[in-house]
Amino acid sequence: MRKFTFFTVLLLVCVLVISGCGKKETLKIGTEATFPPFEFTNDKNEVIGFDIDIAKVIGEKLNKEVEIINMDFSGLVGALNANQIDLAIAGMTITPERKKNVNFSIPYYDASQVIVVRDDETIITTRNDLLGKIIAVQMGTTGADAAAEISNAQIKQFGKVNEAFLELKNKRADAVIIDAPVAKEYIKNISGIKIASKPFTEEQYGIAINKKNTELLEKVNEALNEIFNSGKYQELYDSWFK
Ligand code: GLN
Repeated sequence: MRKFTFFTVLLLVCVLVISGCGKKETLKIGTEATFPPFEFTNDKNEVIGFDIDIAKVIGEKLNKEVEIINMDFSGLVGALNANQIDLAIAGMTITPERKKNVNFSIPYYDASQVIVVRDDETIITTRNDLLGKIIAVQMGTTGADAAAEISNAQIKQFGKVNEAFLELKNKRADAVIIDAPVAKEYIKNISGIKIASKPFTEEQYGIAINKKNTELLEKVNEALNEIFNSGKYQELYDSWFK
């Protein structure tokens, strides 16, 4: 009888442990999905892209379920600090300004800003040509920062990248300043616009994390290093950028 009770309890403990293990913790990832090929929505309205694939691999390595939360880019840092999300993976440039509020992982992508104009535009080829022009940008981005440095320019800020491009297309703006790989995607899909300038900034993307969450930061960096060293990074890079 005693033996029977012992094994019953043991069995019960095993069942609890196993079912407990099945329930993975979630890793909440904040992003802004008008930024192809890093994060965008497909016809099924799912958020996909290079960043999302990186997020999923990190989730696997941390044994956590990944939940993607799509929000305004300018709200990501606030969402991290309010603990509404655990990580922001959003083509986010590591900047000294942002570093005052959040920590960044090791860099995972080199990027740069470029100027996009309509096809008929022949004068604008550098930043200096934007003096006094109307520039459309995404709010809270390094593209918006670059536009703010141009004298007498009128800056129109939008929550979503596609809205900035629509403004250009409809001749309500003269130019868009945006990350080069993203510009390349938009000019493929919107007719009548082109990249007008060389890349003119040096930027690196990082994954942003709440400053208090140093344990997660370490794990994310470990995961990123594994992704670089295993060839997984190259595989994902080739699938999204070639
Ligand atoms: N890399 C730019 C930035 O960090 C733009 C990012 C974005 O719009 N998703 O500001």
